[in-house]
Amino acid sequence: MKIREFQKQFEQIAPSAIAWKRDNIGLLIGRENDTIRNIIVALDLTMDVAEEARKKDSNFIVTHHPLLFNPLQNITASSRIGELVLFLTENKINLFAAHTNLDSVKWGVNFALAGKLGLTDVQILSPIKESLTAVVVFVPEDHVEAVASAMHEAGAGMFTKYDQCSFRGEGTGTFRGMSDAKPFLGKVGKLERVREVRLEMLAETWKTGTVISAMIKAHPYEEVAYDIFPLLNRNTEYGLGAIGTLAKGITQKEFLTLVKKRLGVNALRYSGNSKIIRRVAVCGGSGSDCIPDAVSRNADAMVTADLKYHTFQDFEENILLVDAGHYETENVVLPALEKKIQEMFKRNNHSGKVYITKHSTNPVHIF
Ligand SMILES: [Zn+2]
Repeated sequence: MKIREFQKQFEQIAPSAIAWKRDNIGLLIGRENDTIRNIIVALDLTMDVAEEARKKDSNFIVTHHPLLFNPLQNITASSRIGELVLFLTENKINLFAAHTNLDSVKWGVNFALAGKLGLTDVQILSPIKESLTAVVVFVPEDHVEAVASAMHEAGAGMFTKYDQCSFRGEGTGTFRGMSDAKPFLGKVGKLERVREVRLEMLAETWKTGTVISAMIKAHPYEEVAYDIFPLLNRNTEYGLGAIGTLAKGITQKEFLTLVKKRLGVNALRYSGNSKIIRRVAVCGGSGSDCIPDAVSRNADAMVTADLKYHTFQDFEENILLVDAGHYETENVVLPALEKKIQEMFKRNNHSGKVYITKHSTNPVHIF
């Protein structure tokens, strides 16, 4: 399987359009034309992981955190990043990052974390904004099905658990072809009235271009009349954090014990005084920005990381905040990532292996 094909298929399961604008994801080091042998997945790239890839004949490493984020002035062995870049290029190992796109999908970091804590009825905590458009097209009655199915095929009309969603309103369209027009219906220079259907569907913003092309191709008119409206609706299929429910309410102490046990940590930082914990929000890694959403959605507790002293203080009265460590709250995604890539390999009849690194890449230690 070529890297180019991997990129294309990964885009389907974790679209780059849902990542932060300033994020650095995708192929960071390598050649799109290389054939993937085996893959190592890891939260971070360290020299241990790079060595492991070389030993396991893995010429492709997928990490959550992008090794290259800030601009580099040089690539030399005198810096950690330079040393790693040199090692990868010398050993012909490609590097791919799935960062905030992996945070924002339902099979990614936050749903894995929610699953680890035993939450059920899990939803996205902070659905992404400005990611939906309404596409409206006017179609002569007998071509509605063909246009609708071409648009569905291109990814329009998907809405949570439903597909092929559309709205159709009947009406009359008018047009008059000018001298150089070649109208599908009627005559040049004569005002035409045609029974048309106003066909509308939702599309994710990043699919809109493909949907419009498919729509125009299936539409019989020389000039297709259509509108694209950006929507303010939030997209509940993608976004940061997750929120769910524990099987039964438990005390704060029981909850903290559960988090320690499930995430394999020896110590937690926390503040807050919720009596009984049932509804729980999570955001793997630095999740402070999602705390207001957790509060407004009535979470009793939130598990995240990188919390500042004043953040603990600000929300002390509203919610039990638990800082369980950046690595610990994100590393839980590796089995899900491994599974998704295995499935991709299977679909492509690729016999390569996917390994989860055996090394901890956590730079933080607790004494
Ligand atoms: Zn992170």
